[in-house]
Formats: sequence, C-alpha cells, structure tokens
Amino acid sequence: MKILVLNCGSSSIKFQFLSMTNERLICKGGVERIGTNDAILAYEAEGCSKRREVKPVADHTQAIENIISLLLSSECGVIKEKSEIKGIGHRVVHGGEEFSDSVLIDSKVIDCIRKFSTFAPLHNPANLRGIEVCSELLPGIPQVAVFDTAFHHNMPEKSFVYPIPYEYYVENGVRRYGFHGTSHKFVSNRAAEIIGKPVTELKIITCHLGNGCSIAAIDKGVSVDTTMGFTPLEGLAMGTRSGDIDPAIIFFLMEKLSLSSKDMDNMLNKKSGLLGVSGTSNDMREVTAEADKGSKRHQLAIDIFCHRVRKYIGAYAAVMGGVDAVVFTGGIGENGPHVRRKVCSDMEFFGIKIDEALNVAKGTEVISTGKTKVMVISTNEELTIARDTRAIVEKLI
Ligand code: ADP
Repeated sequence: MKILVLNCGSSSIKFQFLSMTNERLICKGGVERIGTNDAILAYEAEGCSKRREVKPVADHTQAIENIISLLLSSECGVIKEKSEIKGIGHRVVHGGEEFSDSVLIDSKVIDCIRKFSTFAPLHNPANLRGIEVCSELLPGIPQVAVFDTAFHHNMPEKSFVYPIPYEYYVENGVRRYGFHGTSHKFVSNRAAEIIGKPVTELKIITCHLGNGCSIAAIDKGVSVDTTMGFTPLEGLAMGTRSGDIDPAIIFFLMEKLSLSSKDMDNMLNKKSGLLGVSGTSNDMREVTAEADKGSKRHQLAIDIFCHRVRKYIGAYAAVMGGVDAVVFTGGIGENGPHVRRKVCSDMEFFGIKIDEALNVAKGTEVISTGKTKVMVISTNEELTIARDTRAIVEKLI
C-alpha cells in the first residue's frame, strides 16, 4: 500500500511518498515560497538524481499539482496512475479537545479543523487548504488527519487546566493542548522497543529539541504533561520563541515602551529564544560556533536553553515518580552532543549518566551507562503519519 504524506504550511508544502508493505520511503520533496514567481520545487526519488527547480507557483492547488506531476513524471516518477496512491495522510497542527487519535477526514472533521483555526491561525487553515486541494485533485482517495495535539489528549486535568478563572477553559477553550505529539509518540515507542518492554510499563521523558522545542512526560504510554501549552510558545527556550516567562513582563513592556499586543506576540514568538539572547542567530550550530569563539552572550543562550531542558527533566521525573528513559530527538536533540552533555551533567542522583564516547558517536541510540537510559532517537513524524493513515485506510477495504 502506497501512502502520500503531506505537511502543508502557509507558504510551503513538504511531502513523502512511502510504500507501507516494508515502510520504505519511495520519494520525498517539497514546494517552498508558494504564492511567488520564484517558488522552489525539490524532489528526491530512489535511483534518480536530486532535482531542484525554481518556477512560479501561485497557490496550494498549483503546488500540489506540481507534486502529483513529479510522482507521475516519465523521467523520475514513481507511479503510473494517481490510483496507486491508496491514502493521503495530513499533518494537522490543532485538533482541539475533539481528537485523541488520527481520523478519516469527512465533512465533520473538516468543520472541526476549521473551528480550531482560532487556536492555530497560522497552521490549521493551511492544513485545511491541503485537504481541500487533495479532494479536488485526487478525488476518491481517502484522507487522514494526524494531529500534533492528539497524543496529549489524555493528560490529566491538573496538567492541562491553567490556574486562571475556570470559565476561560470552559467557555473559551483556554487550556494546555501540547504539540509535537506525533514525534513524542514515535520516539517513546522506539525507546520501549530498545528497552525491550511494553511502553505501558515505562516512564519516559521525551525531549524534542528542534527550532520548536517541547518535552513530554510519558507514563505507561500516556502523555501526562508537556511543556508546550495553549500554543507552542510555552515551555522551553526555542530558536526564536521565549518559552516560559513571567506574564507580568508582557504588561510591563507594553506600558513602558508603548508596545501593542501584536508587537509582543512578534517579540515572544519571533525575536526571543536563542536569537533573542545571542542577538544574532536562532540556529544552534551558529550559536555554538560563536560561543566556541568566546562570545559570552552566545554561551549564555546555550546555557539558558540547556538549563530549561534540565529543569523540566527534573520536574517530569517528579511528576511521574521516576524515570526509566530520557530521549533526545529533533535537530538539536539528535545532533547536539554538547547540549545533551550539559543537560545530563551531574544527574547521577537520577540514575542518569552519559558515556561521552557514546554521546559523540553518530547513530548510537543508547548513550548512557546509568540505571536511567539516555537515548538519541531520530524522530520520523512522516512515518508515524503514514502508519496511522495505513491503519485507517486498511479498515475501509
Ligand atoms: P524544525 O523544528 O524546524 O523541524 P529541526 O528539528 O530541523 O527544526 O532543528 C533545527 C535545529 O537543529 C537548529 O537549531 C539547528 O542548528 C539544529 N541542528 C541541526 N544540526 C545540528 C548539528 N549538527 N549540531 C547542532 N545543532 C544542529
């Protein structure tokens, strides 16, 4: 069974096409700068050299038309007919309180995704656009929505209700939703596989550290707490997002500097985190390079980043009453041994002890020698989306 996985953003679309008989990636690519005359089309397929083309792509319809043409192309295509695509899995950012798992998309699901656009105004409308365009261009092929929020759906109330007047939760849906669920689910299942026990017998802390960063406490396979909240702004320090700050800072700066709520939103989402502290970059590689040259501000940005990860690991071990494994994933989690070293130093009292040779070795999944396993696991959100899509499509046959 061949599954197309789509991640539709407002100006870009990423895709992967997988054969689910053996979970093999057949081809992948994407379209960036949608809506411009110099959009970038990228494509990689088995036995075919990488392609990159710059051309006008007016909208999501044209972007998906281009992707379908690539899949069908005589030179480096991978299918002869559209009907070889047996299912389409969409990454959808916000499933609100409605979805605890992936679902077959129908008009009701579409209405819900639209309704939750108020919580994810940058993401849900773009995800929805992708779904609508696929219904037009690939009619009759079942589509599945895989939500970033779904894995966190079963958090206990004490984790998801904010200590503000309760009506805001009941009437306005203000609560912790959590994000990166697909990644947390994938790496926690892989960690259980490596340990050789069912995930339902383990306490796992998963650290997804990329441009966006979040940590989840996964007790017996259930996400019982996570650092991102009502929006992906809460929790850890990220590439450009502040994570937790005293909310009073917002009112103080708005009054003192006559900033608007839009200014504050922009500052906390786009100008903070590694970028805000370092003053030059949101990219951990660049920040590290400057810190290594002696820049104190860049070193401080890394120190704050690691301190917060460490703090939440401690908090989540307390939440679960123990921890069997700490998992690092995402661009920084997978490729930043210096971050893992700093986060895990002096944590022997938790049973956490990294072996430095394993920490710097590429491709090693278990990097610890202590009682609590420390792992580096490559996340694969597309594969999780494809697996969920296959499971739902198989039931229709
Ligand atoms: P996204 O959240 O956009 O998917 P990624 O998971 O790709 O982002 O993570 C991007 C981050 O990973 C950047 O801060 C980047 O510097 C960092 N990163 C990628 N490769 C390395 C590396 N070799 N060493 C340190 N950081 C890295």
